[in-house]
Amino acid sequence: MSRAISAVKGMNDLLPTDVARWRALESTIREVVRLHGYREIRVPVIEHTQLYVRSVGEGTDIVDKEMYSFVFHDEPMTVRPEGTAGVVRAYVEHGLHAKEPVSRLYYEGPMFRGERPARGRYGQFYQAGCEVFGDPGPLVDAEMIDMIVGLLRRLGITDVEVLLNSLGGKGTKARYRERLVEYLEPHKDALSEDSKRRLTTNPLRILDSKDPRDQKVIASAPSVLDVIGDDDRAHFDGLRRHLDKLGTPYTVEPRLVRGLDYYSRTLFEVRGRGGELGAQNTLVGGGRYDGLVEELGGPPTPAIGFAAGLERLLLATSVAPAKDQPEVFVAPLGERAMGEALALARELREAGVPTLVEGRGGSLKSMLRRANALGSTIAMVIGDGEVDRGVVQLKDLAAHAQRDVPRAEVVSAVTEAVRGGSTG
Ligand code: AMP
Repeated sequence: MSRAISAVKGMNDLLPTDVARWRALESTIREVVRLHGYREIRVPVIEHTQLYVRSVGEGTDIVDKEMYSFVFHDEPMTVRPEGTAGVVRAYVEHGLHAKEPVSRLYYEGPMFRGERPARGRYGQFYQAGCEVFGDPGPLVDAEMIDMIVGLLRRLGITDVEVLLNSLGGKGTKARYRERLVEYLEPHKDALSEDSKRRLTTNPLRILDSKDPRDQKVIASAPSVLDVIGDDDRAHFDGLRRHLDKLGTPYTVEPRLVRGLDYYSRTLFEVRGRGGELGAQNTLVGGGRYDGLVEELGGPPTPAIGFAAGLERLLLATSVAPAKDQPEVFVAPLGERAMGEALALARELREAGVPTLVEGRGGSLKSMLRRANALGSTIAMVIGDGEVDRGVVQLKDLAAHAQRDVPRAEVVSAVTEAVRGGSTG
């Protein structure tokens, strides 16, 4: 045997047993966003690198260190590290703003970041996210956060904390930046190397740092809420009022900044407590990005969105997968029965019953053992005797009952049994 090739570190295979849980999760998410009027959009996985540089921003970990970028025919390209930039690009490129006053878009798919892999942190990971364009909030901000909390509840994830902040609009952000630099300058020597550099390039990012040296300094940093402008304050208060009215709990965290540059005003994060999450406990992150559509060449358009990490949701939830094993296992005994088995399986599948035919032959005992191992409900035994008599032997594997059914009635007997839960 030659040496096997393993997967790239941080990139995971999802085997069929995993995928069953994934699909259960995805269908719950789809159902919840559909109930809130979101429609799915699918955009490419590869975009021009410039898209992320202009949206996520230089000086962020994502753009500076984590992007899978390459040059193809002289064009710098990047495999998407997040979903919002591509959706905004598509929104502008297809002029969706001219077609509808408000767009509610949902996306799901793999994202790629070259981070150091850990539990809950991967190089390829999946996000499901929503974006609303054309609604300045704050009602829609509250509705979105409440939808996320409701979704998590449906997934059985109730031990969560919603962290809320406002970065304000351009004016507030600029004032805060100034105030933060004023505070940080005298502490410069105590900061990490990265943060020293960010002091001039992107000081807000310093608040995001996990470095213990930075954390010590950040702990007493001024709050954005000290310098927030009146309109931004009114927006934030409005959001809080709506959430209070809904009874959706949250904690105001004035130092929450998140790792992307495009946010303005509302910013939120949902963290899970306990479960198998460990250190990577941020389940959902999101916020408002009122300037991004314009920044990417569209008209001024308020917008808000969030992304949930599906691997982390799966670590936190105990959703049971839907059954995805064949309902009926056809066990042909002998050459003539084989042909009959294939035709029968085709009829059952056309009637919507998942069916598997054992094509390798073998003893009846071994075939029934396989049917049981697969979790099938019914085994159908066809031997030469059955072919001669124009019947099929139908075995209810759970009830250990069996009976002969005329060939012409097999499909209706099986569909009834599968729906009714017994072969009667
Ligand atoms: P972000 O796009 O950074 O705001 O992240 C949104 C969500 O995506 C996070 O809350 C995580 O649940 C998930 N996420 C982000 N980065 C990773 C990663 N490297 N591996 C797994 N999940 C991630």
